[in-house]
Amino acid sequence: MTDAAAGQPLVVYGEINLAYDFGPDHPLTPRRFGPSIELLRAIGAANLGEPRVASDDELQRLHTRQYIRTVRNFSIDPWHHVPADGIGPGDCPPFEDMHEASAAIAGGSIDAVDRILTGEVQHAFNPGGGLHHAMAARASGFCIYNDVALAVARARDSGHRVLYVDLDVHHGDGTQALFWDDPQVLTFSVHETGTSLFPGTGFVDERGGDDALGTAVNVPMQPFSGDASWLAAVEQAVPALADAFRPTFLVSQHGCDTHAYDPLAHLRLTTAAYRAATALLDRIAHQHCEGRWLATGGGGYDAYRVVPRSWSLVWLAQAHRELPAQTPADWRANWLADAERFGQSPPPEDFIDPPDLVAAESPDAAALNAQTTERALAGALELLGRSDR
Ligand SMILES: [Zn+2]
Ligand SMILES: [Zn+2]
Repeated sequence: MTDAAAGQPLVVYGEINLAYDFGPDHPLTPRRFGPSIELLRAIGAANLGEPRVASDDELQRLHTRQYIRTVRNFSIDPWHHVPADGIGPGDCPPFEDMHEASAAIAGGSIDAVDRILTGEVQHAFNPGGGLHHAMAARASGFCIYNDVALAVARARDSGHRVLYVDLDVHHGDGTQALFWDDPQVLTFSVHETGTSLFPGTGFVDERGGDDALGTAVNVPMQPFSGDASWLAAVEQAVPALADAFRPTFLVSQHGCDTHAYDPLAHLRLTTAAYRAATALLDRIAHQHCEGRWLATGGGGYDAYRVVPRSWSLVWLAQAHRELPAQTPADWRANWLADAERFGQSPPPEDFIDPPDLVAAESPDAAALNAQTTERALAGALELLGRSDR
């Protein structure tokens, strides 16, 4: 570790992240890493560590042996298989070395937890992670192995009570399902409602299994909701849930497909909300978990305008750094041509979007969101208080 890196949060990144690639027409493009990692370095991130490939034993903590075999078969021969276990044409097409690329993302998140547990770092960030839709025996929604759930399991198996906060625009259905019956893990997800968006789940009445009631919490938002509703949900629910659940380890997923510019979903957030949410999570990590906090990336499909700044805001919160006045001019210049070539908007100057980027939320939608947040939180607190685990 260099002097500049000492004391910094760990950023998990290596060349192998670029191998997680479903093809040139797929929205989850590894082109996200170029501008995003360069921006992280430009604002001062120096403690970067390569992910390692998770072993089959590690993957089997949550995935079935049969499913891992399926992924391995596609990985060796992606061209001559009929679709199986969610892998096939569509969201999760097979590609060469898909097992190694996916297991490296998982290994990156698991390893980051280990480094937090040994005290090597307090906070870590795996931007290529956050593959929250993957199920025990099925790929889904661009996700092969559920790295972020495997990280939660690692912390949980070391005796921690884990609070999982999923900020992606899509419901964190895989992570919720994998800990549905586990009272030691509380999964919280705020997302666009499943009535208008994949995966179609994440409603308030999903509360966890009989022995873990209150440890699944969902706040589905109306389409076209903005910073005000979303941030109110996070600020009301997360600290209150932390007080009730008393976590000792925090894991968060920072999909930035909630952004107004994102092409795949219908929320209208700006980076101002990301700034506030990451600061809040940092406070929770120190207040409840002695700093133990793994953050991951997630969705986010505007590769130049949104993803780099979103990842930087996670790092700035973890590094306890002030917000730089602007994105570096050199960085913007370096990625301008690339953005143009792929028909994308240029990298922006401001880390924090101007408030007038989006129109105000409709009062009806805002009122509904407030009711939903209240109902989700009140129900969870009642169930958590009743069991008093
Ligand atoms: Zn901190
Ligand atoms: Zn997403």
